[in-house]
Amino acid sequence: MEHVHDYLIVGAGMAADAAAKAIREVDAAADIGMVGEESAPPYQRPPLSKALWKGDKQLADIDLGTAASGATLYQGRRIVALDRAAHVARDGQGDTYRYRRLLLATGATPRRLPFEGGERLIHFRTLDDYQRLRRYAQPGAIIAVIGGGFIGAELAASLSGVGCKVSMLFPDAHIGAGRYPDGLARHLDDYYRQRGVDVRSGVRVTGGKSTDGGVELALSDGSLLRVEAAVAGLGVTPATALAEQAGLKLDNGVVVDAQLRSSEPDIWAAGDVANFFNPALDRRLRVEHEDAAVSMGRHAGRAMAGIAASYDALPFFYSDLFDLGYEAVGLLDTRLDVVEDWREPYREGVVYYLERGRVRGVLLWNTWDQVDAARALIAEAGPFDAAALKGRLPRSA
Ligand SMILES: Cc1cc2nc3c(=O)[nH]c(=O)nc-3n(C[C@H](O)[C@H](O)[C@H](O)COP(=O)(O)OP(=O)(O)OC[C@H]3O[C@@H](n4cnc5c(N)ncnc54)[C@H](O)[C@@H]3O)c2cc1C
Repeated sequence: MEHVHDYLIVGAGMAADAAAKAIREVDAAADIGMVGEESAPPYQRPPLSKALWKGDKQLADIDLGTAASGATLYQGRRIVALDRAAHVARDGQGDTYRYRRLLLATGATPRRLPFEGGERLIHFRTLDDYQRLRRYAQPGAIIAVIGGGFIGAELAASLSGVGCKVSMLFPDAHIGAGRYPDGLARHLDDYYRQRGVDVRSGVRVTGGKSTDGGVELALSDGSLLRVEAAVAGLGVTPATALAEQAGLKLDNGVVVDAQLRSSEPDIWAAGDVANFFNPALDRRLRVEHEDAAVSMGRHAGRAMAGIAASYDALPFFYSDLFDLGYEAVGLLDTRLDVVEDWREPYREGVVYYLERGRVRGVLLWNTWDQVDAARALIAEAGPFDAAALKGRLPRSA
């Protein structure tokens, strides 16, 4: 069967939803098609590892309401081929989609462990993954969380919060190592342990298999760990298979210009899959966070509908870890020069990441409403040092 749309969006996630709504705002008569592999219509992904577990949100709350854009949604369909010269995409069932302009909003794919652990080993990314984990995460259930980054840290806190016995396994020295300064990262390990999480740093999962009613993991210290379910958050890679097949320029994602257009004039890219230039940081970035997905999706949608402008936003991101939380902007990398300014050590404060005297990243730890002030600081030429940054944020509005 052939479908014909003026605008075709490949992927039906957060960037896709923002793009469809933006196209509709600019072009009231737009004919928009959206093809998504998942069975659910576009939804907010961040609550999968936090708000849904705390009960702050229910499943009905995370639907993004994409229908309001008037896009025709093809759910449960994966685009497997893209002919950019002919302007035709094809899905796995053989249907074709003819388009005038196309957005790649294919997101990212979780890294996988190199073994099959069966139904109870979950590489966490989607609503289906959340529902699968939720089935096993009964109070008292023994669950392994593999990975000490964003997703692992959030899931360990959430699972522990619903009464599971959690073992957290990761190869680094501490939770969030490389991102948080050493003292804060050590404090986090203790914070998790005090809340009952069995934090095992410096440990790699080297193998595993499904067992009757669980998963058995082989660890780098030679031990075996038997759990009722294991959930992995090992980072993601940009979902570029289609872009590669179509011959688009790639470099850690789909390379886009200031308008988020790819190397092919009628194809844009936005969200986790896109590699864009950020003027404030003076470098290319690929950001795997909600604010980037939504703002880029919106920007690309407007550009596709004819409103040309440069995307120069510096996205922020956030996380919740038990009752701790933060917002952050720019590069959080402890290889930069780190300046810590705590109002209360590891409870409330600001961490700055500097490169040759310029602020390149700001971590606002339990410090709120400072994202714009942090962005402004990153745009300033400096130079800054620790003395100049002490007490600089928070700024009153
Ligand atoms: C558990 C979790 C918690 C998170 N928490 C936070 C947070 O606290 N703060 C924050 O800032 N960010 C967070 N993020 C990151 C944020 O959710 C992502 O950055 C955002 O969802 C990216 O949006 P996207 O549209 O680029 O990709 P996605 O939302 O991943 O959507 C891409 C969609 O495209 C589909 N797709 C891929 N290829 C094809 C194809 N060929 N054909 C059809 N469909 C295809 C995929 O199945 C997917 O549904 C979290 C992510 C996860 C997984």
